[in-house]
Amino acid sequence: MSEAVESRDFIRQIVADDIAAGRHGGRIVTRFPPEPNGYLHIGHAKAICLNFGIAEEFPDAQCFLRMDDTNPSKESQEFVDAIQRDVRWLGFDWGNHQTHASDYFERLYELAVRLVRAGDAYVDGSSAEEIRASRGTLTEPGRASPDRERSIEENLDLFARMRAGEFPDGRYVLRAKIDMASPNINLRDPVMYRIMHRPHQMTGDTWCIYPMYDWAHGQCDWLEGVTHSLCTLEFEDHRPLYDWFLDRLGASPRPRQYEFSRLNLTHFVMSKRVLSALVQEGHVRGWDDPRMPTIQGLRRRGYTPESIRDLCTRVGVTRKDNVVEMAVLESCVREDLDARAPRAMAVLAPLKLVITDYDAEREEWLAAANHPRRPELGERTVPFSRELWIERDDFALDPPPKFHRLAPGREVRLRYGYLVTCTDVVRDPATGAVLEVHCTHDPQSRGGNAPDGRKVKGTIHWLSARHAVSAEIRLYDRLFVDPNPMAAREGKALGELLNPDSMAIVADAMVEPSLAAAAPESRFQFERQGYFCADPDTTPERPVFNRTVTLRDTWAKVSRRD
Ligand code: ATP
Ligand code: MG
Repeated sequence: MSEAVESRDFIRQIVADDIAAGRHGGRIVTRFPPEPNGYLHIGHAKAICLNFGIAEEFPDAQCFLRMDDTNPSKESQEFVDAIQRDVRWLGFDWGNHQTHASDYFERLYELAVRLVRAGDAYVDGSSAEEIRASRGTLTEPGRASPDRERSIEENLDLFARMRAGEFPDGRYVLRAKIDMASPNINLRDPVMYRIMHRPHQMTGDTWCIYPMYDWAHGQCDWLEGVTHSLCTLEFEDHRPLYDWFLDRLGASPRPRQYEFSRLNLTHFVMSKRVLSALVQEGHVRGWDDPRMPTIQGLRRRGYTPESIRDLCTRVGVTRKDNVVEMAVLESCVREDLDARAPRAMAVLAPLKLVITDYDAEREEWLAAANHPRRPELGERTVPFSRELWIERDDFALDPPPKFHRLAPGREVRLRYGYLVTCTDVVRDPATGAVLEVHCTHDPQSRGGNAPDGRKVKGTIHWLSARHAVSAEIRLYDRLFVDPNPMAAREGKALGELLNPDSMAIVADAMVEPSLAAAAPESRFQFERQGYFCADPDTTPERPVFNRTVTLRDTWAKVSRRD
């Protein structure tokens, strides 16, 4: 606990202080309130980790998962299901505390009637256009609607008839009667209800008026017994409105709202509207495209829930706006996978290596550690034979300085295999390209150790050509060229902001035979290449892997250990 105390952010500190002071009857209730109009992204993960994290860390604390489903024109069950899946995958459990804003539609309506009855709300026949035009600006007050002074009786009658479905969409709205001259534009008689003849995924045809977010949100928190209503900074200016509603309704006990800064990551966009456009316009393969900042995209890419939670911890919770380098996210997943992912060998750009003094009929199964630092992860055996695949980059006819891999006359270690020396190459007579590398091996060096202790600097990975399985490997890079895509956006179409090389498909890669059976979502370190994750498209006939992230350190470090 002491570590948790030290690293307490300002919100957890408030929660701890409230508990110590016996506020809220010692109970803590938070909520994560996504609108089911898209998939969750890594920004949401920050809010999830905060709200569910508090519920886990403090005694007598509870977090609701509340679907903020007040706009049936944009929402769907598909999104509700995806949100649940993602929150669970991140490792959080709402128990039986899953609710919907729509669970409270009837209560919200009753509360709105109370406001009408008290003269605090009125039915306005102005069009959306007129309302917008009369709202004023930061420097100019708004103008009152001609309907603002309508009698309470008439308002009650019209509001009931709005609900009963007597009017078409847009004919009337219900507005709070606050202050058209308020310096805070949110208080200039905000709309509480609009008419929308549209079935809702939860309430069906019961309603044809739907509450606005600003009206529904605070009241849902109150009705649910939320004590700490945590949201991002852009809602700070809405807090006076939420408090106004709660004051007028005499809410007690009432939720307190605290704001924190949004999570932003370079080269990523967190707006659901933009993410949705990427999908709709076909720039990506779907919401779960491994280049997307969605939880499902990151998951498909190979990110672990632990790495995403780690990012949220590292970023912390403050009120300071900032943009986190994408490299921080990458280092989180790299660290996690380095510790956990079993190792395997894959060759992305195969070049044939023939061991001329190795019997063509012979095959050996050599022991290979699944993890260099975790013997408990065991060993596997990898087949070895006369013809191998090595990485094209691991051979150079004319090696530059410090090239410790294979070159004519040079000796290199085949990881877990033998020491081999390049004796010859076969070249394409027309282009001069190297078609095959010929080597001899030191039979005494099985396992990769020199019998006389001689120094062999380079170690390369390989696959037995006869046993290797052909695989598709998808390499990803940042989706947006600019580190701050939205700032670079001005006047440009979405497509113009995208990195044309954000995905490269290697169709003719080779992998260890055991990888053919890799289950979707299983993760590996392909030695010297990076971390990879089996894609849902993978089949034993056609294994498919996504590159999660490259290795930060080069092979140099690994060979030094050898
Ligand atoms: P968008 O603007 O992309 O539509 P949103 O904030 O409207 O996102 P909601 O579904 O309403 O999406 O968000 C649910 C919760 O997640 C809110 O409490 C919101 O404050 C929080 N949230 C959304 N984006 C971020 C972010 N980038 N960082 C931290 N919290 C976020
Ligand atoms: Mg929102």
